[in-house]
Amino acid sequence: MWIDTHCHLDAPEFGPDHALAVAARERAAALGVGRCVIPAVERANFDTVRALAHRLGDAYALGIHPLYVPQARDSDLDLLDAALTEHRDDPRLVAVGEIGLDFFVPALCTPEMRERQVAFYRAQLRLARKHGLPVILHVRRSADVLLKHLRELPTGSGIAHAFNGSEQQAQAFLNQGFKLGFGGAVTFEPAKQLRRLASALPLDALVLETDAPDIPPQWLYATAAERAEGCAQGVNTPAELPRIGAVLAGLRGIGVDEMQAAAQANAWTALPRLKALT
Ligand code: ZN
Repeated sequence: MWIDTHCHLDAPEFGPDHALAVAARERAAALGVGRCVIPAVERANFDTVRALAHRLGDAYALGIHPLYVPQARDSDLDLLDAALTEHRDDPRLVAVGEIGLDFFVPALCTPEMRERQVAFYRAQLRLARKHGLPVILHVRRSADVLLKHLRELPTGSGIAHAFNGSEQQAQAFLNQGFKLGFGGAVTFEPAKQLRRLASALPLDALVLETDAPDIPPQWLYATAAERAEGCAQGVNTPAELPRIGAVLAGLRGIGVDEMQAAAQANAWTALPRLKALT
């Protein structure tokens, strides 16, 4: 099966009551997407992602995303710990995520905010270790700092999602037992360095993701000029995953079936509880 290892199906883009997400999930299933992983981003959506994963037959992760650290309270970490404890026997809870560091957004780059992001990241690495779960990492201009703390607080496995770093950084994540998430970004021809990396890494290093509704693949993307002429941006959903997988297979010169099988096995290695769901 295809596995979308990262999609925010609870996002407001998917409409009230997640109606568009349910429809998109059905289309994805018809195209062979057997499982999606829905990460949380803040305390307020812990219950939502869990309920949605159960409704769709999918999996979820619980965590506090770096972009939500500014509004998070310290006590949210206790709430996260409590939720991980309460749902420890839920087979659909597969990771702590989405957590990490974002050193791209200017408001998150002040010395105080960098420090606060690191504090939340380290606390959540500790929770992952306490609860025996892998982590799903948001990596933006932050790979080396993420790795430094991960070496101190290793989780054994996990995913560096929407990976777009150097070959050395890729190797360093692989050394920590991680897989690297690739999605819509590799479908853009100008993304030469990323495409080179996605073709050069060992096949057992990669997992697939759409990051829906963010990062639309090239065929859904409307440029600013096209949008000005009334051409709408396509909505990215898990239904795009097989086509993204086919692009990656083409870049690597392997068959689509081989890509699918490898990506599935790699997702199961990164998030071991996913395998038990089948
Ligand atoms: Zn995400």
